[in-house]
Amino acid sequence: MHIYDLHASGLSPETIVVAAGRPERAHDEPVNPPIVLSSTYFGTGSLGNGDRGYGRYSNPTWDPFEEALANLEGASLPGLLYASGLAAVSSALSLVPAGGVVVMPSHSYAGSLVMATELAEKGFLELRTVDITDTDAVKALISPTNGKKADLLWLESPTNPMLGIADIRALTDAAHAVDAIVVTDNTFSTPLVQQPLSLGSDVVLHSVTKYLSGHSDVILGALVTSNPVLRATLLHHRTIHGGIAGPFEAWLALRGLRTLALRIQRSQASAATLAERLSTHPRVETIRYPGLPTDPGHERAKDQMKGFGSILCIQIAGDQHRSGAEIADELVRALQLWLPATSLGGVESLIERRRRHTAEPLSVPENLVRLSVGIENVKDLWSDLEQALMSLDTSRERAPFIPSV
Ligand SMILES: *Cc1c(COP(=O)(O)O)cnc(C)c1O
Repeated sequence: MHIYDLHASGLSPETIVVAAGRPERAHDEPVNPPIVLSSTYFGTGSLGNGDRGYGRYSNPTWDPFEEALANLEGASLPGLLYASGLAAVSSALSLVPAGGVVVMPSHSYAGSLVMATELAEKGFLELRTVDITDTDAVKALISPTNGKKADLLWLESPTNPMLGIADIRALTDAAHAVDAIVVTDNTFSTPLVQQPLSLGSDVVLHSVTKYLSGHSDVILGALVTSNPVLRATLLHHRTIHGGIAGPFEAWLALRGLRTLALRIQRSQASAATLAERLSTHPRVETIRYPGLPTDPGHERAKDQMKGFGSILCIQIAGDQHRSGAEIADELVRALQLWLPATSLGGVESLIERRRRHTAEPLSVPENLVRLSVGIENVKDLWSDLEQALMSLDTSRERAPFIPSV
């Protein structure tokens, strides 16, 4: 069955992650696609569109992942794999005409913001950043301001790391009213939780490094669109700028994708439990998790997502001796099961204070700690958090961390 037949068949996403991208069923052929390690392909006639030709144009190992991702996002054309999420960001920003206007969340992923800011400083584009949760403010920046309307609206929802929720449908409609292209970074949600194309976005972006691969052993990115003109432009950019995926990474990504549904199911449930417990802990000054009914993005997230994701952020309260940021660093060091490391979306739970990165926007609070909840037993994750939080209280005995077997 071809992937687009799978799509039409109405199979659920939990099945598609397992079934998509399989080779043809022929006797004694492998059930998994092989890794093709070749920089070039036989050919004697003239090279046409869609011919493989050379390893920078295409590789058979990319195809199953690109088809599977398109299927999951509900796209009618195969996705495009890139060397990294940021290579995909670079390609997506190439859709902006010279001097064009880009509207971007002020709390976008830091790398996306740095790239757009540097392009703006060189005069290649005009960048307008905005609180993406403020629908009216975004609409104002999309419409002609100083005589120029937006050419591209960049959405990220939930945002990294502030977990702001954008009204994707309303903002996409506003952007389309002025003929702006909408790109949505769907890294935090994955297509199992949110499908931006169905909410009107033109292009969906993924850091495949995160949930889609899921094992913190791959750097990859992807774009997905149903618009043939946009796809051709993006494909040309990938070919000419060369931000292509290695075959082994592409193969690992498809292997990781097979368990996406199970991983998301587990990590989302654990994130909800941990968010609830952390929200009443005295060391936690504020918590951001769209699944909490008190979260400002809760209602919007409920409307456009099938769950609330597996990332949560807490701000750590300071005391008379130490700042919240210092205590946050102590918390990260005191953990024994959670891994102190950047990134997110892997099977293992990761934690970090975001402002340890100098590129992080200054509007991200110094004492903000981001937690990427993995697939470990939630009891163990909580025990470790509890002992580490308790250890911050110098007046108390440090509780031993006893992992349950
Ligand atoms: C990590 C990340 C990126 C960048 O992806 P890389 O694979 O690290 O290049 C882009 N957007 C979001 C939301 C991310 O978390």
